[in-house]
Amino acid sequence: MSTIPKAYQRQVNNASTRLQVPFHRAPVGQEEVDAVSEVIRSGWLTMGPKTVEFETEFARYIGVKHAVAVSSCTAALHLALEAVGVRPGDEVLVPTTTFTATAEVVTYLGARPVLVDVEEKTLNLDPADAVRRTTPRTRAVIPVHFGGQPCEMARIHELSAELGLHVIEDAAHSLPATYHGANIGTLSELTAFSFYATKTLTTGEGGMVTTDNPGHAERIRIMRLHGIGRDAWRRYSATGSWYYQVLEAGFKYNMTDIQAALGLAQLRKCSGMRSQRRQIAMQYTAALEGLKELEAPTVRDDRESSWHLYVLRLRTDRLTITRDDFISALRQRGIGTSVHFIPLHLHPYYQNTFGYRAGDFPVAEKEYERCLSLPIYPDMTQEEIRRVIEVVSEVCEEHSV
Ligand SMILES: *Cc1c(COP(=O)(O)O)cnc(C)c1O
Repeated sequence: MSTIPKAYQRQVNNASTRLQVPFHRAPVGQEEVDAVSEVIRSGWLTMGPKTVEFETEFARYIGVKHAVAVSSCTAALHLALEAVGVRPGDEVLVPTTTFTATAEVVTYLGARPVLVDVEEKTLNLDPADAVRRTTPRTRAVIPVHFGGQPCEMARIHELSAELGLHVIEDAAHSLPATYHGANIGTLSELTAFSFYATKTLTTGEGGMVTTDNPGHAERIRIMRLHGIGRDAWRRYSATGSWYYQVLEAGFKYNMTDIQAALGLAQLRKCSGMRSQRRQIAMQYTAALEGLKELEAPTVRDDRESSWHLYVLRLRTDRLTITRDDFISALRQRGIGTSVHFIPLHLHPYYQNTFGYRAGDFPVAEKEYERCLSLPIYPDMTQEEIRRVIEVVSEVCEEHSV
C-alpha cells in the first residue's frame, strides 16, 4: 500500500508527464546491459582486453590505422595537442561557437586559445576569419564539426599547409560523418571523438583519438596512462610482468573495459542510428522549412552529417517573441530543447582571461540569439516526432507578426 498522499502523487505524475518529448534519451538497451554485465562478471574492470577490442573495431569502422581510447573527448583533445608539441606561448585557433572543452584544453598546455568566428550557414569555423587571426605564434587549429556536419576541410587543410599549422579535429558531434566521401577521423593529423552520455555513441563518459601517424598513437598511448611504457595495463594479466618504466609525467586518462563493452555494443548500431537520426531530420525539414518564421539547417551536398543536432534558426523579425520565450513556450507544451552553443567569448572566463568582449564575433552572436536545438535521437517514436512538429508550428503561428 502506498503511503504517499494522493495530491502529491498527482503532482509527481504531472511532473513526469509534463515533458512529453525529452531533449535527449540515450539509445541503450539489453545489448548494452548484457555487454557490461559480462565485463563485470569477468573480474577485469579497468582498461584491458575489451578496450583493445573497442579500439580495433573503432579503427576498422572509421578506416584509420590507430584508435586510442581515453576517458573523454576533452582528454583526447588534450593528448592530441600534447602529441603535436603545443607549448606555453603558442596560440591555437578555436571557433567561438563550441563547448568550452575545445578551448579549455589549449590552456592545459599553457597556450592561448584564439577564438574565430563561424560561417552563418553551417556555424562551422570560418576559414577566412581563421587566417585573419593567425600570428607567428599560431601552432594549430581545432575545427569543430558543428552538429555533425563536417567543416570546409579542404580549405582548412590548404590554409594549415600554407601557415604551417597542425590540424586537430574536434569530432565530438560527427560520428559517423563524411567529407567528400571520406570518413571523419581519417582526414587530419589527429581527430578526437566523444562518447559522452548525449553524443551519437555513448560509453557514459569516454573518448577516442584517431590518427594514421604511428608516433602520435604511441605517444598518446603512453601519456594516457601515467607516462608508463606501452601496454602497462598488461602487468596485472596472467602473462604480464610486475616490471614497468615511467617514461614521462603522463595523465590518468585511460578508458575502462566497462566503458569499452558499452562502446562495442553501441558501435554495432552506429550506422543504423545515424540513418534513424537522418530520417528524423528530413521529416523536420520537410514539415518546417515552409514556415516563414523559421530557417531549417543548411545541408552541404559534398558532405554527410551525423545529425547529432538539429538546429533551427528563428526569424525573430517575423516573430513577436524572443528565442528564450520560444523555448519556454515549447517547454510548456512538453517539448525539451537546448541551445548550442553560448559563444565562448560571451563567458566570464574567456572575457576576464583573454579580453574578449560581446561584439567581437558578430556572426556567432547573431546566430546564437536565434538558434535552438530540437530533440533528435534514434528511438524517437513517430508520435514524438509529429508532436515536436505540431508544437513548433503552433508556437510560430501564435506568435507570428
Ligand atoms: C561534448 C563536447 C566535447 C567534450 O566531450 P567530453 O567527452 O565530454 O569531454 C568537446 N567538444 C564538443 C564540441 C562537444 O560537444
